[in-house]
Amino acid sequence: MSISLNGLNPAQCFIGGVWCDPVAGDTLELINPSDASHLCNIAKGGAEDIDRAVAAAETAMRGDWGRSTAVERSRILYKTGQLVLDHIDQLAEFEAKDVGKPLKQARADVVALARYMEFYAGAADKIHGATIPYLDGYTVYTLRQPHGVTGHIVPWNYPMQIIGRSVGAALAMGNACVLKPAEEACLTALYFAELMSQAGLPAGALNVVPGLGAEAGAALSGHEGIHHMSFTGSVGVGKLIQQSAGANVVPVTLELGGKSPQLVFDDAGIDAALPFLVNAGIQNAGQTCSASSRILVQRGVYDQVLTRMAQRYGALRAGPAMDDFDVGPLVSNRQKDIVEGFLKRGSDLKVAAQGAVVGDAPIGGAYVAPTLFESVSPDHALAQDEIFGPVQVIIPFETEEEALAIANGTKFGLVASVWSADGARQMRLAKALRAGQVFLNNYGAGGGVELPFGGTGLSGHGREKGFEALYGFSSLKTVAALHG
Ligand code: NAD
Repeated sequence: MSISLNGLNPAQCFIGGVWCDPVAGDTLELINPSDASHLCNIAKGGAEDIDRAVAAAETAMRGDWGRSTAVERSRILYKTGQLVLDHIDQLAEFEAKDVGKPLKQARADVVALARYMEFYAGAADKIHGATIPYLDGYTVYTLRQPHGVTGHIVPWNYPMQIIGRSVGAALAMGNACVLKPAEEACLTALYFAELMSQAGLPAGALNVVPGLGAEAGAALSGHEGIHHMSFTGSVGVGKLIQQSAGANVVPVTLELGGKSPQLVFDDAGIDAALPFLVNAGIQNAGQTCSASSRILVQRGVYDQVLTRMAQRYGALRAGPAMDDFDVGPLVSNRQKDIVEGFLKRGSDLKVAAQGAVVGDAPIGGAYVAPTLFESVSPDHALAQDEIFGPVQVIIPFETEEEALAIANGTKFGLVASVWSADGARQMRLAKALRAGQVFLNNYGAGGGVELPFGGTGLSGHGREKGFEALYGFSSLKTVAALHG
């Protein structure tokens, strides 16, 4: 089943406000992971297309876009948010078919994209510099200015949300963006560019070049014409991006993977915790950077939590994205092979429970049954490495100190949560946990666009989302006037 993009040709790039063929004329095939069918061909952009996109962004910065006021940018972003909501059915369908995301989750991502536009529309004219008391005869103040041309490389798991948070904040601050979406899923990126154009975004302020990471992606991150690089993806590629951008002394924001824990203490409200414990592991089939893949449970409630999580797992169903099961397919059969490799590495572990792939799931779809392992040692590969599939491990612990050591005992540090009624413990752990976000008696806090997000260690550095992102997507200038 191929897909129609409402008149857009998905095999084109969006450069300088115009849809155009990639210079080499090459294309890549997009596959629907629910049934392995051909969706459409997309452009296979390369270095020459990235050159054109960076040049278009530079031109925009020298023209109307570079002179735009915060309120003008705010209005364009707000209008884009409205257009996104007007097109929720189309965008959700593209994301469900492209990523394999269950339709309800895809619709939630559309709403989140609109929220990013609304939030950064509201924030654009509320960020400013300061005056600094200084020596007699001086007036000193700071200006917050755009970097210039910003590069954005995004992965396939949450294209709309990640584009919203990074491109939205960069445009709010007046940068011109070059976006390289993932080769596995880029339809919503293309459609979003069209909606921004309809909302009145000047030519060149947002350019989209689909293509392979090693070609278009590498050309963008190493380009001498970019002034800031935002990357979301794997640790291995993040290291490459940091090196290539570093060669041009370009600042980099890296949002990488995670192995995020939830710590469940004996005094926790188990009824309240349960839906979060499981959902945080299976949302988007576990292909979420902030997925909670480690559940640490204190001995006193271990049996109860294990039994109830296992019951939930037993009821989980994986099936086609458009049919909206608990879990969709993984994004590709390549990703399925990776996750099945991890399940094999867990063959020495005890499976507590497994969900099922529905009987009539199309042959060739990238389905993996959600799997829960019990009594896992904290140093086992499945408790250390990011799996990026619907797999969770339960790890028992005795004391708060032990729980903290296990929680902090991986190379990652993205998010963590604490389930306990003890306020002092909550405060102690919120400070001590190695993570960019800590949740107390919840997990994810609904993913609010307002909440600064990012990691430490192998999870990356820099913060996106919230007001904080606006500082990252701008440069501070100090002006000192000596007037006597
Ligand atoms: P990936 O790193 O392979 O790809 C991400 C993007 O980088 C894609 O657009 C790809 O084309 C591009 N890319 C690949 N090689 C490149 C290169 N040499 N130079 C420049 N660009 C290149 O990751 P993935 O498989 O798409 O995504 C899964 C990973 O992303 C997981 O590890 C996950 O944890 C992480 N992730 C993190 C977050 C976060 O916010 N922290 C969000 C989503 C995904």
